[in-house]
Amino acid sequence: MPYRKRRVDDVPNAPAPSAEKKEVDEALGVEAFGFNVYTVEPGERVPWGYHHHPRHEELFYVLEGVLTVDTPDDPVIVEAGEALHVPPEHPNRAHNAGEAVVRLIAVGAPKATDEAVIEERCPSCGEQTGRRGERANDGDTVRLHCTACGAETDRFGRNSG
Ligand SMILES: [Zn+2]
Repeated sequence: MPYRKRRVDDVPNAPAPSAEKKEVDEALGVEAFGFNVYTVEPGERVPWGYHHHPRHEELFYVLEGVLTVDTPDDPVIVEAGEALHVPPEHPNRAHNAGEAVVRLIAVGAPKATDEAVIEERCPSCGEQTGRRGERANDGDTVRLHCTACGAETDRFGRNSG
């Protein structure tokens, strides 16, 4: 493998419910772990919903702003300069509840076991169900569908309007 470097600002923006998601691991061909850099405007989520990873752990390092991470207990507030470890099997959903932009790095490993178990209620059938994602508009948009009833539950990305 060659040494590879990229300017993170030049990495294409991946579809996400936050202003920016830079998939640095994909851009550089990283195989062992995920490395994403997020810019989250006030009111936005990262990633898109309440989930856990059965066999994958994550670390969120907040560079700027204040990240609110929902858990089964009280939310965990992660301020700039702090890092939060999310072990496997620990449900979470993060969002920017503040007035200022949040920038963070999310590292996850092992990359090969990053499958997520969604734990959200479907607005259509009312059940707590999984989600199936599909890319549209040349990959600029992600649409999510309930795995039980098939209803579209969410969409985000550059052409999602
Ligand atoms: Zn449903």
